[in-house]
Amino acid sequence: MSEFETYECTACGESFAALPDANAATNGYCSPACEVEGKGLH
Ligand SMILES: [Zn+2]
Repeated sequence: MSEFETYECTACGESFAALPDANAATNGYCSPACEVEGKGLH
């Protein structure tokens, strides 16, 4: 059983739930859009 943990998005500051081994948890972004935003790729 996997447990969701709460993280704070690096880009928008929103709290979001993700699995500890998920990409979102590793990257610290709640969504691909925020990942783009956070990395300044847009
Ligand atoms: Zn976000």
